[in-house]
Amino acid sequence: MKKLTFRNVLRTISNFLVFFLTIGFAVSCCMMLFLNTLADSMGLTFTATNIASAAKITFINVLLLTFIFATIDYVRRKINIDRPVKVITNTTEKIMRGDFTARIPNMHGAGMEGFNQIGTAVNSMAQELSGIETLRTDFVANVSHEMKTPLAVMQNYGTLLQTPQLSEEKRMEYAKGVTDASRRLAEMMTNILKLNRLENQQIFPETTKFDLGEQLCECLLQFENVWEKKKIEIDTDITEDIKVEADAELLSLVWNNLFSNAFKFTENGGTVSLSLTATDHHAIVKVTDTGCGMTREVGAHIFEKFYQGDTSHSVQGNGLGLALVKRVVDIMQGEISVESVVGKGSTFTVKIRRA
Ligand code: ADP
Repeated sequence: MKKLTFRNVLRTISNFLVFFLTIGFAVSCCMMLFLNTLADSMGLTFTATNIASAAKITFINVLLLTFIFATIDYVRRKINIDRPVKVITNTTEKIMRGDFTARIPNMHGAGMEGFNQIGTAVNSMAQELSGIETLRTDFVANVSHEMKTPLAVMQNYGTLLQTPQLSEEKRMEYAKGVTDASRRLAEMMTNILKLNRLENQQIFPETTKFDLGEQLCECLLQFENVWEKKKIEIDTDITEDIKVEADAELLSLVWNNLFSNAFKFTENGGTVSLSLTATDHHAIVKVTDTGCGMTREVGAHIFEKFYQGDTSHSVQGNGLGLALVKRVVDIMQGEISVESVVGKGSTFTVKIRRA
């Protein structure tokens, strides 16, 4: 909204003068042309007095008309331009102050199409910003929450370690508690940093051509201790000679997370299967387990940061594994999906382009 300053008043007067002079010039030209034609065709002669009084009347007419038009234009501007501009400015100011719920209403009337377009764009921007803000606050809340648990564990064990005349066995147990909790904290920080770098595209994939079956076997073998301890049966069906061109380190992150979950969520004596097949253009990896499975509701959220569907296993992990997996698969322009039945098990399927 324009403020009433000396400069603005001067500008309004000069605008009016320009408008007046333009209309005056145009009307005078028309009048002279009309009078000349009239005089020629009717054989009339105009005296100086006639012309002077006609000029005065024309001047007053032009002044009156320009004043009326300027007033109409002023009112039209107030309604059609200043009002929507004020609504848009007020809303954007609210958004700037952090109120992402503010929206520009749809404005009715002639000439509002442009403003409504701006309104729609601002509203979508506010919607996006509110999503980002929720993610940010959720992220901070989640990180703080996740940090509190291992810190509390470390504090407790630390206090217990200060007990005098502690048996060697207890001392070892408490010290192990501190080490485990600090390892968990360090793992979480590493995952957060990795995820952050992946999201900000600071990790540029270093692609090489390699045999996918070999990589899968190498990753699976790292879990030998776990499957032996839990007496889990391993079932593999790997098509040979399937090459992919990808960042091997990033891709191994995907397999390690999927295997780690499969072993974590499968009870003793269960089975974990790995299969690698291929179509003309894609390699398809399936990691199946006979674990606890998950509901459709849980399945819909597992790729979100810090989401943990099964809290009974929350001691191991922090809900970042599958968020990392999804990010890596997205970077590789692949696809990941999950099929799961509660109590029966889950199958994660990853599809990536072949070399
Ligand atoms: P974390 O394993 O640390 O909890 P993830 O991001 O790896 O975090 O997994 C998120 C959630 O997805 C888990 O908490 C669990 O509920 C579910 N989930 C993942 N893999 C499986 C699986 N193989 N079987 C059942 N549930 C799973």
